Amino acid sequence: MSFADLGLSDELLRAITDAGYTEPTAVQAAAITPVLMNRDLIAIAQTGTGKTASFVLPMIDILAHGRSRARMPRSLILEPTRELAAQVAENFEKYGKYHKLSMALLIGGVNMGEQVAALEKGVDVLIATPGRLMDLFGRGKILLTGCSLLVIDEADRMLDMGFIPDIEEICTKLPATRQTLLFSATMPAPIKKLADRFLSNPKQIEVERTGSTSLLIEQALVATTSRGKRATLRELLKADDVRTAIIFANRKTTVRDLAQSLAKDGFKAGEIHGDMDQSSRIRELERFKSGDINILVASDVAARGLDIKGVSHVINYDAPWHPDDYVHRIGRTGRAGASGKAFTLVTEEDAENIANIEKLTKQTIPRIAGGKTAVAAEPADAVAQPVEAALDEPRAPRRRGSERTRPERAKTERVATAPRDRRDAPVSRPAVHAPALAEPSEPIAADADAAWNGPVPAFLSARIAE
Ligand code: ADP
Ligand code: MG
Repeated sequence: MSFADLGLSDELLRAITDAGYTEPTAVQAAAITPVLMNRDLIAIAQTGTGKTASFVLPMIDILAHGRSRARMPRSLILEPTRELAAQVAENFEKYGKYHKLSMALLIGGVNMGEQVAALEKGVDVLIATPGRLMDLFGRGKILLTGCSLLVIDEADRMLDMGFIPDIEEICTKLPATRQTLLFSATMPAPIKKLADRFLSNPKQIEVERTGSTSLLIEQALVATTSRGKRATLRELLKADDVRTAIIFANRKTTVRDLAQSLAKDGFKAGEIHGDMDQSSRIRELERFKSGDINILVASDVAARGLDIKGVSHVINYDAPWHPDDYVHRIGRTGRAGASGKAFTLVTEEDAENIANIEKLTKQTIPRIAGGKTAVAAEPADAVAQPVEAALDEPRAPRRRGSERTRPERAKTERVATAPRDRRDAPVSRPAVHAPALAEPSEPIAADADAAWNGPVPAFLSARIAE
């Protein structure tokens, strides 16, 4: 399946090629054609499977015809956070570069004047968080009666954040004859209810967890030696984008020694391992969540069942013995819409463990050299690859209701994903905090990850130059 098979315009195909995408993801392959045919759609696929482009691309072609009118946006995309809203706007800019579409962004924390002025003139695409939109609507600055296409993105996060009543109200303000698309990682009952009420005869697609890939976790194997491990780790930790890291080691004694030596070197490091009782583990976790420490050295067993997700980096100090531990460990990084990095230190003795991991995750993890061995770096065409995060959920603490027993699931088209090359650098900064913390206050930077565009991060290539 290629993008050219989906019925998209030539201009759009050109923009997709420019963006470096070679092949649609499973959700894109299943969603784009029905959306182009003006069907309502429910798409369920985990974070990092490329849902954004699966509505942005067909929308650009749909909106290419027709004109916008003052104060009446032609389409509306609802996003739970301003970061996600801004990312969608970036997507419209990237893929819409050969089209003349106008856009406005209504999100908290930015000056409204310009956006309101754009709305006054009329826009093709309005991207908004529900709160901001309701606010402006209340002030009579906007009319939704000309809005014939609605996207409810990240519906499960909308639910978590209490936005469902707002969304219901917004839906009633749109014309009844419209196209509605709903995207979500899971389908809990309140979302199902929302879909039943506001979508008509939707095409439903579901990308199965098993075999589905997250494009958001960038992985690399860092070649080192048993004796060079500590030095390599320190180099990795000194990279300026390491905000929060979990370092996994295979043995309790290693966890303890490592945490101590890092703390001695001035890193804000803590530890959790099986010799600690549950309350001490939780206390340590609290220190991590509050930012008291930003590095947590952990063993697999101790980390299991603890709500630590969304850190910027996972570093496997030891390659895990069991391949599914690899998937669990690296699933601790990445967060809705934000990328994370997972490094695994590997010595010659790890060859078999790595081979098992690559077999399970059906991918070749790019190799980069660390420390003094850097001259032996892999060829420059090695790129970060997606990982199969299928095994991540069963042990994840905040698992939401699965709908597998529902009879109507039978109608759902199931799509299996195959691991694919990742050709596109992530657009956002990695998540910088554990989930219990508030949203990051810093503005998002579109190319904050530019240093990790290829196989060798800047901090390692500096080493190569020595
Ligand atoms: P989701 O909304 O499902 O969580 P996103 O739409 O944010 O996922 O996409 C996740 C990442 O995958 C982004 O960095 C995006 O640029 C990348 N991506 C999306 N589609 C493709 C593709 N067809 N090929 C390569 N990378 C892609
Ligand atoms: Mg998304």
